[in-house]
Amino acid sequence: MKKRTLLPLIMALILFLCSVYWANPNVSATKNNVPGSTIESIPTESLPDQSHGSEDPPSDEEQTEHHDIPVGSTFEVHFIDVGQGDCSLILCDGKAMIIDGGEASESSKVYVYLKAHGIDHLEYLVATHAHSDHIGGLSGALNYATVEKALCPVTQYDSKTFQSLLKYLGNQGIEITTPIAGDSFMLGSASVQILGPQKPYDNANDTSIVLKVTYGQTSFLFTGDAERTAEADILNAGFDLSSTVLKVGHHGSESSTSYPFLRAIMPQYAVIQVGKGNSYGHPTEATLSRLRDADVQVYRTDLQGTVVCTSDGRTVSFSTEKNEDIQTNPTAPTTSVPANVSASGAYIGNTNSKKYHLPSCKNLPAEKNRVQLHSREEALEKGYSPCGNCKP
Ligand SMILES: [Zn+2]
Ligand SMILES: [Zn+2]
Repeated sequence: MKKRTLLPLIMALILFLCSVYWANPNVSATKNNVPGSTIESIPTESLPDQSHGSEDPPSDEEQTEHHDIPVGSTFEVHFIDVGQGDCSLILCDGKAMIIDGGEASESSKVYVYLKAHGIDHLEYLVATHAHSDHIGGLSGALNYATVEKALCPVTQYDSKTFQSLLKYLGNQGIEITTPIAGDSFMLGSASVQILGPQKPYDNANDTSIVLKVTYGQTSFLFTGDAERTAEADILNAGFDLSSTVLKVGHHGSESSTSYPFLRAIMPQYAVIQVGKGNSYGHPTEATLSRLRDADVQVYRTDLQGTVVCTSDGRTVSFSTEKNEDIQTNPTAPTTSVPANVSASGAYIGNTNSKKYHLPSCKNLPAEKNRVQLHSREEALEKGYSPCGNCKP
């Protein structure tokens, strides 16, 4: 009798122990499937309402600890005005890296710039790709400074400018190193990560070395002339592209700075290295408007000359050679005209409401109710009153 009652008891005990053992893994497994818990895996940046939450400050401090910068450390990026071409100089804790050097005609400018800043040694020289508006002026750098390592996506390219680059590198006994996406190295207390090229391309622009420089909590993305194909491949590679400052790809060409790429970078600032009155139409309105949509503050070497960005590891500040406060990316191409004046002098009337609007007004009437008014006087004469939104 006793044995018969014990058996179910023992079995019940075993079952109970099993359920205790499995309870916890079960609970956490279901928890992960609860819709609410997925919020935990969404980055806080995409939850704007939480960005000012009470949990934010500690994580901010954690980040500082992760990216500690030694006392007395300094960091600067000089976006040197070399006309239609790229040239950036990155200085950190007495170490230097030059990325591109503009056309060969700019080599003396590069030479003089390095000399003026006492930079006679470059830890890294980066030729983003073989085009002359990027590598030509590097001869000026190689004439003045000794170079430790030269990075370029190719070791051969059929052009005089490239042969010249090889010659100047050869004079210093330097051979080109072809970096691999994912490589990283230090420049003082800044870290540099190679993001592209992801693979070989026929389009030389897409072969551009794309690299991200991180200094403390600030970061800088240099994209050479990479176009949307290369941008998509870098995006797909899954790197953390988020950056404080973006060197806009391909001088603001329409074929670069695609929306998905820009959205992943989410820069606060962008620098366009471009020549005044260039024949390519750079920077294009398409790219400028994408930057406006993303609320990016734009600096331009064609309008402001050399642009220098300084980082203290938490925030960045900019200074420009000229036109510090100029409109670099006006909200509409017509902003040279005061907002309440029509650029063309013409207005659009609504035959229904008898209101008249600026052609740029967001509340324009349906096409069939529109009437062209050639001046404010005409509008008033015909009994139209001004729209309350665009205040024409
Ligand atoms: Zn190019
Ligand atoms: Zn270029």
